Amino acid sequence: MNRYLLIDMIKLRAASVANSELVIPEAYFYQSLNVNGLKTIRELAIFRFTCRRCEDAPCISVCPAEALEKDPDGIIERHTNLCVSCKSCVTICPFGTMMTDFFEHHRNKDLLFDLKDNNDVQRFINSCPEGTVTVTDAEESPEKNIYRLNDKVLVKDYLYSPEKH
Ligand code: SF4
Ligand code: SF4
Repeated sequence: MNRYLLIDMIKLRAASVANSELVIPEAYFYQSLNVNGLKTIRELAIFRFTCRRCEDAPCISVCPAEALEKDPDGIIERHTNLCVSCKSCVTICPFGTMMTDFFEHHRNKDLLFDLKDNNDVQRFINSCPEGTVTVTDAEESPEKNIYRLNDKVLVKDYLYSPEKH
């Protein structure tokens, strides 16, 4: 049986809206920083599950650093080594896809937790708003808005599906 970390993006978003001062911890699971920079779980989840994948994506057009592009599946990818955290993409996105604090944490090591490290996993859970990150034996369950991001992480969020629109 696989044990997953379940990250409830719906609750995290609500906590962020309720408290603009809230600093949401981030988690990652990459072996090392690659040329595209560190990708956090929250960023991967938002671009994978809730981004509307706009045809002429305004976030890409507005980015002054050419830090955004689509991967072959149409999923937005951010090159964190290029991003200058100007947040122009946040402002222009018509769907509020990205949280306003989205682009700063990768530069703050105190807010980053490595999911390959069990101690970090527990620290990540403890640091997040109560009930937003839990450990579960459950599997992906679309009827409960729970989706598998990878072999370590489940994400709960309202899925945007291009096929439905
Ligand atoms: S925050 Fe980063 S990705 Fe977004 S527009 Fe600015 S440079 Fe580009
Ligand atoms: S503008 Fe927003 S919804 Fe559209 S592709 Fe960019 S991030 Fe996704």
